[in-house]
Amino acid sequence: KSLVKGEKLWKTYNLDSTEVHALKGLDITVDESEFVSIMGPSGSGKSTLLNLIGGLDTPTRGDLYIGGRNVSSMKDSELTKMRAENIGYIFQTFNLLPALTARDNVEFPMRNLSGNKKLDKSSRIKRAEECVEIVGLGHRMNYIPSKLSGGERQRVAIARSLVNHPKFILADEPTGNLDSDATGNIIELLHQVNDEGTTVIMVTHDVETTKDTRVMRIKDGLIES
Ligand code: ADP
Ligand code: ADP
Repeated sequence: KSLVKGEKLWKTYNLDSTEVHALKGLDITVDESEFVSIMGPSGSGKSTLLNLIGGLDTPTRGDLYIGGRNVSSMKDSELTKMRAENIGYIFQTFNLLPALTARDNVEFPMRNLSGNKKLDKSSRIKRAEECVEIVGLGHRMNYIPSKLSGGERQRVAIARSLVNHPKFILADEPTGNLDSDATGNIIELLHQVNDEGTTVIMVTHDVETTKDTRVMRIKDGLIES
């Protein structure tokens, strides 16, 4: 079953008076429980593609389905809801809130849940602690990010990406700021998360991190292979 399906995706940016075609009719399918790595040179369209798959932007042309729903023409409010319900995000720079402990960083995304998904404070804390335990940081629950190593910070970010039970995780160069030991550990953790059934879509420059994943190469706005 496909989780992400993009058909003939175009993304055109208007820069001054010229048009830049970042995506040029790109097709992409990611199935449930896959681990996909996206590679490609700088300027090839990786960030643009990730923004579309992540529901942060919509294509200029083409149809994009996320979790079976066409998001191409969604309003911002619908996109926001779709993101919260379907997607966990991980970034190269971790993007943790510096004043909050590991537990509270992980609890944070649950505050935005609405309707029947809404949780009271004690349920949120319980779920946050569960996710911090899953990533192996039970002993760092009360640490703020500046007291954690890079690898530990990324583990907290992974815990945060998991709290709302996403259908897939989007990881934008998750090991770009880590040394090789931490890189190996983070990739292993992402495989563990994937083995539990969560689809992972990762942009990476490091071919070592793509072992046992399906590699998609993007060049000049199209998938090469
Ligand atoms: P952008 O975010 O502007 O689209 P890229 O995704 O191409 O940039 O690159 C993100 C980071 O990775 C940058 O800091 C860049 O210097 C670095 N980078 C780009 N290409 C490579 C490469 N082939 N190998 C290693 N690092 C790279
Ligand atoms: P990558 O992530 O592979 O480096 P990008 O998706 O960032 O590639 O960029 C693809 C192309 O689109 C590049 O030519 C880039 O300069 C252009 N581009 C990206 N974002 C914008 C923007 N906001 N405005 C204008 N051009 C952009």
